[in-house]
Amino acid sequence: MKLQQIKGSTYALESDTAAIGLYLFEDRSCLLIDSGPNQKQAAEVLQILGESGWVIWGIFNTHAHADHCGGNQYIQKEQHCQILASEIEATFINHPILTPYSMYSAHPIKLLTGKFLMPAPSQVSRIIGPGVQDINGIEFEILDLTGHSLGQLGIITPDGILFVGDSLIAQNELELNPFLYVSDLGKQFETMEMLRAKSHLSFYLSHGGEIENVPDIIDLNYGVLNDALHILEDILRKPCTREEIMREVIARKSLQVNRNHYFRLWASISAFLSYLCDEGQAIIYTEDNYLKFSLK
Ligand SMILES: [Zn+2]
Repeated sequence: MKLQQIKGSTYALESDTAAIGLYLFEDRSCLLIDSGPNQKQAAEVLQILGESGWVIWGIFNTHAHADHCGGNQYIQKEQHCQILASEIEATFINHPILTPYSMYSAHPIKLLTGKFLMPAPSQVSRIIGPGVQDINGIEFEILDLTGHSLGQLGIITPDGILFVGDSLIAQNELELNPFLYVSDLGKQFETMEMLRAKSHLSFYLSHGGEIENVPDIIDLNYGVLNDALHILEDILRKPCTREEIMREVIARKSLQVNRNHYFRLWASISAFLSYLCDEGQAIIYTEDNYLKFSLK
């Protein structure tokens, strides 16, 4: 992991998992933007910052996925820092069992409670929402980036760097993960249009870092979502159960899925199916005791 200056007081700690953003205040305390996936990386963050004499004032969590808030507990314990998140993401951060619960729809089997899905719990100290917000005496603009998760937020630092969390994924990451994870597809489309209107800013992606060609990356993400939507529309020409839909998507996209991946993929496909049903393009019904989806 290495500390890189992006512009002015805005930095990033980059690693091969999700990157962590950082804004340095004048008193050498800093705001982390997300906290990385686990305690090990969080300890590394504290060591790197400690070498420069920097301390952590707070963590702004874009959302509650484990690779973004897995370092919260350790950092909060070590530096007694604040944690800021949207109301809905705060609920997940405070009660991390809700992530595997929402994928499994009941108390999850142990398989789904590993650190990749379920981070250690931490305590959000301030609920924050969209708009210009005072954070430690400095104004930041907070954006609603709902879509990838139900309450994801972005943050624009005073240097004009927009940290977009997982609302956009870089090209090389898309090649590795050709089925994007979304919780609310309709909101994701709205978020991408809102981001397009901000493309004069410098964007920083949690998976992919700083990008220059913002409209191209937005188009690329659109392409991946529309491709998945068209695949599902094609599959649903014939009534299918959810297992049949999953099997077909995995085959058509040549995905490699273990049991953990299966649940994540199912959650994302469920978002696409909600969108198709709520837009009036598909229906859900029971037949011969099977739950089926079909185009309308
Ligand atoms: Zn995420």
